[in-house]
Amino acid sequence: MAGIKQTIEMLRSKNIRPSMARIRILDYLLGTTDHPTVEMIHRKLLPEIPTLSKTTVYKTMELLVEADLARLLHMDESEAHFDGNVGDHGHFKCKRCGQVFDFEVDLDALKTRGLEGFSIDEKNLFFSGFCPRCCSS
Ligand SMILES: [Zn+2]
Ligand SMILES: [Zn+2]
Repeated sequence: MAGIKQTIEMLRSKNIRPSMARIRILDYLLGTTDHPTVEMIHRKLLPEIPTLSKTTVYKTMELLVEADLARLLHMDESEAHFDGNVGDHGHFKCKRCGQVFDFEVDLDALKTRGLEGFSIDEKNLFFSGFCPRCCSS
């Protein structure tokens, strides 16, 4: 958890006005590895901010992704997931329980062919299958 003060600083450093909703959304995102969807963020924060609309969550997430404070994960055709961890790491999505797991990966050491002359903006590594819990049940 980054702490509210630090969260406000992060928003300010990107010239984003630190409204209550923005602070709480970013703070939640930084403190979780759940890779929540808009729906999940909304459900989580509604008890705390009863006036929070899904549109606000959606717009805030757009803003945070734009400012590089969060990442948008396009993993499959289901809802978009968000990640407060903007460092290099891979994702594994379980096809049964739907949970998204982080794993470490050295993306710079990843060998690719056929991208000579391309300028790469973003590197994502997605695996899918079944998590250990779903494998054993
Ligand atoms: Zn699973
Ligand atoms: Zn992640």
